[in-house]
Amino acid sequence: MSLARCPHCRTRHIVKYGFTKRTLVFKEISKTKVKVQRYICKRCSKTFQTDLTSLVDKNSNFTNELKSESEHLISYYLGSLKNVCKSFKKFFGITVSHQTIENWLFVNENILEFDLGRCSGYYVFDVEWIKINGEWKYRHKLLDSISNCIVADAIYDTEDENTVEKFLRESTANKNKIAITTDLDKKYASIILKLGFKHQLCIFHTKKSLNK
Ligand SMILES: [Zn+2]
Repeated sequence: MSLARCPHCRTRHIVKYGFTKRTLVFKEISKTKVKVQRYICKRCSKTFQTDLTSLVDKNSNFTNELKSESEHLISYYLGSLKNVCKSFKKFFGITVSHQTIENWLFVNENILEFDLGRCSGYYVFDVEWIKINGEWKYRHKLLDSISNCIVADAIYDTEDENTVEKFLRESTANKNKIAITTDLDKKYASIILKLGFKHQLCIFHTKKSLNK
């Protein structure tokens, strides 16, 4: 810290007190072991360390610059998480799972939409539960089933006819419209037909339901 102060009592009467070791992943220099300076306060006897929050989140090894690079890459690769993973590996020698990248991208953004002029017109629609800051939300996701790219992704507090229709209408505006594949949830059929698509049922879910 350039001007070290005790965060508890604000005094400058502090002395250096060893290091904490951390492994951080930077964009250019990849995985690096760092020593973070620790201090002890001479007035209140509490210990603390150099504040790195502008550089990296407390519970993450990946630096903020690396996370923001993923936002840039995801639009560059038309929403393909697989390609973002590959490019981290290829250009920076960094291995990151696509789940991790997904988490970086979707925690802070409510909606991410990619303007795909090349949408095939065939989509897969899915809603999944996602826990954000301790609360369960509904993540609505539309994939192009030919390219496997994410066309749109939005997080809502509820999943009902209104949110589904709003999401599908907005994310397919000005795009090719042929068919949308979903699971067997009954409310999807009327919405999808109303929006001018054919409705297809997911083979996996259909088989499961027939077996039952
Ligand atoms: Zn203090």
